[in-house]
Amino acid sequence: MIIKKTTKSPWIISISTAIFSLFLTIGYDYFKKNPFFTTIGTIFNWAWRTLINALNFELKIWWILMAIAFFVGIIYLIKKSKGEEPVLPDFHTYREGKLKKWKWTWDWKWSTSGDGWIITDMEAHCPNCDTPMIDNSSMYGFSFDCPRCEFHASDSQCDEPRKIERIIHDNIDRMRKENSVP
Ligand SMILES: [Zn+2]
Repeated sequence: MIIKKTTKSPWIISISTAIFSLFLTIGYDYFKKNPFFTTIGTIFNWAWRTLINALNFELKIWWILMAIAFFVGIIYLIKKSKGEEPVLPDFHTYREGKLKKWKWTWDWKWSTSGDGWIITDMEAHCPNCDTPMIDNSSMYGFSFDCPRCEFHASDSQCDEPRKIERIIHDNIDRMRKENSVP
């Protein structure tokens, strides 16, 4: 009741305003200069820098992990693209033979798609002059021509490359079985 009455007086208002602004100024200086608040500021500053450092540190670990994952991935991809180490097999010298009607020559190639060693560059040789024949086979039938002596064979007169390939693989299997028997 007393305060209510006194605040109504312009005299009191003037005084209190002056005191209030004085406290504001003192407060401002106090917050600015007081060592306690400076310490708080230092602590905040330190905490902030520590946080930044910690974040930087985490970031570095993250990058190390990324780098490791990256290199592991690269090594995996290189290994996968190369497949297993293509050590020359015992049968890599087996590149020609009389199979069925004709003499055939071929090459071995390491398959990167996981099929192992596959037969490539199969050629049927002319039974008359041993020249590699031209394979003119189509979906309608087999046809082989000798470019040198004009020997020609078609359909049942021909060796089927698919069967020859199968026989080559079977020959290797048989040779291995013979060798493995003590
Ligand atoms: Zn020929």
